[in-house]
Amino acid sequence: MRSAAAQAFISDLETEDVESFTDTALGDDLTELRRTMDRIEFQFSRRLDLFARRQGFVAFGFVTLISWLRRACRLSPGAASQHAELARNLASLPETSTAFAAGEIGFHHAAVIAHSVTEVGAEAVVRQEATLLEAASKLDPKFLSYVTRQIRHCQDPDGTLADANENHERRYLHLSQTFGGLFVIDGRLDAEGGATLRAALNALDEPWKADDTRSGSQRRADALIELARQRLDAGNLPEVGGQKPHLSVTAPISTLLKDPGCAAGELEWSQPITADTVRRIACDCAMTRVLLAPNSEPIDVGRCTRTVPPALRRALVVRDKHCRFPGCDRPADWCDGHHLVHWSDGGETNLGNTCLLCRRHHRFVHELGWQLRWSAGGEIIAIKPWWMGSAKSAREAA
Ligand SMILES: [Zn+2]
Ligand SMILES: [Zn+2]
Repeated sequence: MRSAAAQAFISDLETEDVESFTDTALGDDLTELRRTMDRIEFQFSRRLDLFARRQGFVAFGFVTLISWLRRACRLSPGAASQHAELARNLASLPETSTAFAAGEIGFHHAAVIAHSVTEVGAEAVVRQEATLLEAASKLDPKFLSYVTRQIRHCQDPDGTLADANENHERRYLHLSQTFGGLFVIDGRLDAEGGATLRAALNALDEPWKADDTRSGSQRRADALIELARQRLDAGNLPEVGGQKPHLSVTAPISTLLKDPGCAAGELEWSQPITADTVRRIACDCAMTRVLLAPNSEPIDVGRCTRTVPPALRRALVVRDKHCRFPGCDRPADWCDGHHLVHWSDGGETNLGNTCLLCRRHHRFVHELGWQLRWSAGGEIIAIKPWWMGSAKSAREAA
């Protein structure tokens, strides 16, 4: 170790009884430690600049500063480049150096400002240095980079446009299906495309409620599916193969009746889905009955009918206005018509046996086993499935 003082400082930290700290004291301690580490980072940068100019790494058998940093200082390639760039550019930034040395700005603030020197040259950055340091005192490094991007836009519009075009070319979206039937999404969008998608997803992601157990990423996934479903339901997408695009399910009547040993339903590309999911989809869909001969040849194809006819749907929207699951107010556009007694079990298709349910709560009923009943006062009561513990209804629990 280079000095006894540094060793003593670390020993001090090691022996401190942090468990006894209050949250406030611990927070202050963490901030102070981070400030100290930033100041040490400045000292590292100051020395690294000298080491780079003298090509000190050659004496250690390395060809480049980056390779030496990666091996000797145990840095990832990205971090090594960032340290080298900061050390190189700091010398031309007097005010940034002073603030960094004093711990007034952090390492990543200094790195953002130093990267700006690489992009637009020291002269342009030095002209804006006071503004950048003021911004750094108020913003985290990510938002500070928005300010340096503005500077780059003013100084180097052609370069900014070239970068934006390159980012646009790097866009892609993979949608692949695993053997287990799950779909995996992976992609990259440029700034405008990503912001457009985020705006649409945010619009479909409702404010969080206490009984919503979904994680942020599950809510985002639901919002993306809702986005696609509402667009399909609107019926204004271009036709594919002479038909409006839609989700198509095929199932024998025994599956709709959930007979013991019945076959799974099939999605368009032969993807099996459970009988409960078939019944949920069939609750409110356009359906065609196909009669098959014993050799599976279709012998009669009936007319396509809606299981919740348009007039009933309109009446449901007027009566229910939103999802009727207790405590839920998702709007009618997000809802299916649900048969309390399924039509395949002889339930009637009328106002008395139907209500609006959002897709999430429709799933609660069909796939998770919640039961819905009308109360004497005309409200829907939802009863938890036995495996969820208490048999209290959602309304009582709320
Ligand atoms: Zn239903
Ligand atoms: Zn709902």
